Amino acid sequence: MDQKNIRNFSIIAHIDHGKSTLADRILEMTDTVEKREMKDQILDSMDLERERGITIKLNAVQLVYHAKDGQDYLFHLIDTPGHVDFTYEVSRSLAACDGAVLVVDAAQGVQAQTLANVYLALDNDLEILPVLNKIDLPSAQPDVVKQEIEDLIGLDCSDAVEISAKSGLNVDQVLEEIVKRLPAPKGNRNKPLQALVFDSLYDPYRGVIAFVSIKNGTVKKGDRIRFMATGAEYEVTEVGVRTPKEVVEEQLNTGDVGWISAAIKNIEDVRVGDTITKADEPADQPLEGYKEMQPMVYAGLYPVDNARYEDLKDALAKLKLNDASLQFEPETSQALGFGFRCGFLGLLHMDVIEERLEREYNLNLIATSPSVIYKVYRTDGTVEDVDNPAALPPAQNIDHIEEPYVRAEIMVPKEYVGAIMDLCQKKRGEYIDMQVLDDVRMNLVYEMPLSEIIFDFFDKMKSSTKGYASFDYSFSRYKRSNLVKMDILLNGQVIDALSIIVHKDFAYNRGNAMTIKLKELIPKQQFEIPVQAAIGGKVIARTNIKALRKNVLAKCYGGDISRKKKLLEKQKEGKKRMKMVGSVEIPQEAFMAVLSMD
Ligand code: GDP
Ligand code: MG
Repeated sequence: MDQKNIRNFSIIAHIDHGKSTLADRILEMTDTVEKREMKDQILDSMDLERERGITIKLNAVQLVYHAKDGQDYLFHLIDTPGHVDFTYEVSRSLAACDGAVLVVDAAQGVQAQTLANVYLALDNDLEILPVLNKIDLPSAQPDVVKQEIEDLIGLDCSDAVEISAKSGLNVDQVLEEIVKRLPAPKGNRNKPLQALVFDSLYDPYRGVIAFVSIKNGTVKKGDRIRFMATGAEYEVTEVGVRTPKEVVEEQLNTGDVGWISAAIKNIEDVRVGDTITKADEPADQPLEGYKEMQPMVYAGLYPVDNARYEDLKDALAKLKLNDASLQFEPETSQALGFGFRCGFLGLLHMDVIEERLEREYNLNLIATSPSVIYKVYRTDGTVEDVDNPAALPPAQNIDHIEEPYVRAEIMVPKEYVGAIMDLCQKKRGEYIDMQVLDDVRMNLVYEMPLSEIIFDFFDKMKSSTKGYASFDYSFSRYKRSNLVKMDILLNGQVIDALSIIVHKDFAYNRGNAMTIKLKELIPKQQFEIPVQAAIGGKVIARTNIKALRKNVLAKCYGGDISRKKKLLEKQKEGKKRMKMVGSVEIPQEAFMAVLSMD
């Protein structure tokens, strides 16, 4: 297809505004997916995405649109996630595109991630096409929301399309606008190959598959390619696109978004953000890659069965191909043995990685409580980054500690401003600013400790505003805080994986809450187990887990065999994620107790 008839675009929006549903309609209306294969949010192909109803991974598809001007156009559409933890997926998608379709829910208006994603698109010099969705809803106010987009974002909305992605109403106009308003790729197919690697995955049969956007040149089977950052060279075995089924093509040309397979067995050779060129006719320079993402949250991941340490290592390396923001390095814990300290972009990201490791690599894992990176100033004048509470130096060696703060922007209807201010105060937030957005909404700006944000801030914010608030945050600076390490002792023994770093003013409460929570979560055993919280060797809270009295099965004596079976199964299920530490069996939930306190 002629390059001027190619359109590469992402669909961006705040979570739940209808990106994936719009992608469904586009695939349907262009007959890309056959009717009998169609299902809702078809691009959310991971089980995990379907179960949770959210998009986690970017997903690129090629389709042909027969436009009203009689010509065929080749579209490469990238559906993106909306959650703040997956912004990295969005930024990578955008670098592979020339335009973006911005979807805004006409009932909800501009939300925090609407703005965040627009800024990303503008950073990438993309043309933005605003679309108002959900106009079928009685509460939709397309005109009000258009005004909001013009005021808050500065995009002209005079001919923004009003659609219902659900029913398909006016989606044909979106397709026409894409042709008219979004630019064709600018590259030159006669120049040396420059292909941007924006994603990758490990296939057990074919090795690493690189997903690429061809910015210049062409590539086909048999070509010898070079990864410019790593210098690795391979011979191409296959190239193709996704429709969303994988389709093999003769050749990928400038403007195409597709995949390259080259029997790549060495995972380290492929890096997201790298440029692929040809070995015998290399480009002078690589393309501008991506900013490395700095993880916000760190936690230990340990196999329940120590013998599977190597499997976990292998799985992490493979998963990193498909999730470039994941970071990991080996770590040992007295309580849990050998594992990895992993860096994540947020708690949802951590949760998703853990679940993907368990499902896709068949591992049983224990995750320790998440932590941010603290800067520890020692009395000897040195400074150290600490991402694991257990690794905090002894108190007498510490001069002071700094913790990361973020700038949080919260958009909220006026009547909930008080509730949000209360919440931010409780989370040690410092008020910075407040702006009036429109007749009904305000934007609140706070500086807050990252450690308070990553835990349950989001849930608390949603529940105290009936779901009407949205927020975005970014790192602002390190600030000195009065922090201490709190140890947890089970049966008199410090469990390093349960240590946390807390603000001194909250220590007593947290210690109490933590011991009570652990008492609930750790199953009774044959003997009584004291649970203690201590700071610098001084116990600040304590409780006991009573000894087990009778066999649980005794209750079902003589009776219902199926009930007995169920009980056994339930116990077995619970066992899967338990770790024997000394003489005490600790379930996974106990390590996460810190997340569900207060
Ligand atoms: P995403 O998070 O932006 O990908 O949003 P989804 O496409 O997953 O949609 C979120 C929810 O909004 C789903 O329950 C959709 O069925 C619903 N939805 C999407 N578009 C429309 C629409 O035009 N009208 C209505 N009423 N609901 C919609
Ligand atoms: Mg989605």
